[in-house]
Amino acid sequence: MRVTYLDNNATTRVADEVREVMLPYFSSLYGNPSSMHLFGGQVHRVIEKAREKAALLINAEPDEIVFTSCGTESDNTAIMSGLETGRNRRHIITTRVEHPAVLNFCKSLSRRGFTATFLPVDKLGKIKPEDIEEAITDETAIVSIMYANNETGVIFPMKEVAEIVKSKGVLLHTDAVQAIGKLPVDVKDLPVDMISISGHKMHAPKGIGALYIRKGTRFSPYIIGGHQERGKRAGTENVASIAGLGAACELAREEMKAENTKVSSLRDKLENGLLKSCPDVRVNGDTENRLPNTANISFEFVEGEAILLRLNEFNICASSGSACTSGSLEPSHVLRAMGVPYTAIHGSIRFSLSRYTTDEDVDIVLERLPGIITELRTMSPYGK
Ligand code: PLP
Repeated sequence: MRVTYLDNNATTRVADEVREVMLPYFSSLYGNPSSMHLFGGQVHRVIEKAREKAALLINAEPDEIVFTSCGTESDNTAIMSGLETGRNRRHIITTRVEHPAVLNFCKSLSRRGFTATFLPVDKLGKIKPEDIEEAITDETAIVSIMYANNETGVIFPMKEVAEIVKSKGVLLHTDAVQAIGKLPVDVKDLPVDMISISGHKMHAPKGIGALYIRKGTRFSPYIIGGHQERGKRAGTENVASIAGLGAACELAREEMKAENTKVSSLRDKLENGLLKSCPDVRVNGDTENRLPNTANISFEFVEGEAILLRLNEFNICASSGSACTSGSLEPSHVLRAMGVPYTAIHGSIRFSLSRYTTDEDVDIVLERLPGIITELRTMSPYGK
């Protein structure tokens, strides 16, 4: 049965071009890049080539890129490094709407003797950059603010944030896992110190990530062992996936502009179609500053999980809240932080598109979903 996949903020399909680039490292080119012999040495060059491609995507220098195992590792590494090199400063500033890779890590650190400030967002999911300025103290080691939200797609004003944080001389990290590959990011124009990247959100495989570390930034490694990644991240390199991430970065750089035009017009068609055909529907988040691929829509008086189950019968994949929190029936912490009414939080669905989304995918959802909503509302415990 045909799959209608609109859950690309959870993960993306590996691009064919990316898979092709990876294959030799599972068969003929299996050497260890740290080996002295040529067989391993040739693999080392592949890693350096991928590093160049990843750097180019954000206009960084290759030696500012460190490969990691995922976005979560990049996030944890950046924050921990900020604390380790922070000359006894023990305070972190972040937001209430971060991905659990930052949010839960900061919560865990605050149980281990550090302090964390979780900044609020407004009804549209936006932060107030002035709040950051007020929250910074002499104790602040690092500020970690996401670039774009995985649930709503809301983009934070990172340049403004960076100017404030850097004027205070504090280290700044951004979790740009949902932004890299979807939005142009230029580190020469954006004074952040560290940026987290994840392969599987941009058509590379799962289990590969990167951390941009600006030259001159004090850094302390999180994974300690061998001297791989110039001593910044130990562990034998995931060569195939690193090559894949490099290829995905190259593809994103070449195709981002055209892709965004196509993806945002499909997303708008989906969103407008649903707003037109279903009553009591709202779009969550700041639609003016939003990732081109994301629509977070609340169908009031219905349970999101019930909607997903019905969509599943037609092989339509979407998500309620982030993939990491679905499975627990906890309402989305992002929508709660935005003050979205409970009846709307419970009926929220995230649709996230990609370069592979077609007109037909959108038509299938528009054909099936309004009927599902009407049907579920007649059985709703909210009595609508
Ligand atoms: N940060 C954000 C904003 C994300 O959306 C995700 C994944 O959903 C992560 C971090 C974690 O990335 P990974 O799955 O590569 O660990």
